[in-house]
Amino acid sequence: MPDSQADGHSMCDPECLVVMYHYVRPPAAPGESALVAMDPDAFDRQLERLAASREIISPDRYLDFLAGCGGLPERCALLTFDDGVIDHYRHVFPMLQRRGLSGAFFVQTDPVENQRMEATHMNHMLLGGLEIDELMAEFDAALARRAPGRTLSDFVLRDKAMSLYHYESENRALYKYAVAFGLPFNLRDEILTEMFRRHWGDPGDWVRRFYLSWDQLAEMQAAGMHVGGHSHGHDVYPRLPRDRLAQDTRRCWDILTARLGRRRRAFAYPFGRYNLESIEAVRVAGFAAAFTTHDGLNAGRVPRFEIARTDCVALDAALAGTVNGRSHAHA
Ligand SMILES: [Zn+2]
Repeated sequence: MPDSQADGHSMCDPECLVVMYHYVRPPAAPGESALVAMDPDAFDRQLERLAASREIISPDRYLDFLAGCGGLPERCALLTFDDGVIDHYRHVFPMLQRRGLSGAFFVQTDPVENQRMEATHMNHMLLGGLEIDELMAEFDAALARRAPGRTLSDFVLRDKAMSLYHYESENRALYKYAVAFGLPFNLRDEILTEMFRRHWGDPGDWVRRFYLSWDQLAEMQAAGMHVGGHSHGHDVYPRLPRDRLAQDTRRCWDILTARLGRRRRAFAYPFGRYNLESIEAVRVAGFAAAFTTHDGLNAGRVPRFEIARTDCVALDAALAGTVNGRSHAHA
């Protein structure tokens, strides 16, 4: 067990490294979608390395600290898991329990509550199952049937796409940008659903295989895990009009409260994107804090609704003290 509690007091602010995970599952078998995932063994090894240099604290302890109660070890870490995927019950939960650790699990409420496969995840499965050129050609064909004369490239800001997805090939960067940021939501969802159906079958049949259920979340919460919000519909918040934004955060809060009880809960912005209106909506809905995808360490009592996180793929560099901007799986 980690034990880096310093004797005596330091003049330095305690420094919390918040790590962000998405898929944690073994490599895809033939015929499965090759999702960009961390292997459970690699996850376990990463926990080992992290625990050797920092005390891994519980989300509640961190939220207490940010609210002005209690202290923190000088060098600590916090584990967070986005998107409410089944991996978190199958692989992560048992590993955390074995080590006596807690983590924060951020779930979007629409898929769990309404048995709906979400656009982002249908897209991940399509990206993991098809070559990018094939995927783009199919998407363009579906787009042309609905909006004659339009192509994916009409919905891309090239420079932004290349800088945001700098770790991707050019076509994957352009495609991912169009889907997350460029295309109107309805059009995008309709096309992704059609393509998903063609390649993977009925999206409704995938919900149970893909996402956590309320029973699993209740079991995790009862065992000391923190279940927080990750929106209702997983849209890019700064793209939503103010009324839809408020509705989305409130729905997320209300459903979590109805299903898992009223208690302090944190939030993670979908795609890490937020602005002042997003902060306000999340706070007004009832959440106590919110996590971004800005890379970096949190020194001292950082603003509660702008907590930085480091993607697990960049963790080794962060542990070596050379944090740099990388995040791979949040879109
Ligand atoms: Zn997400």
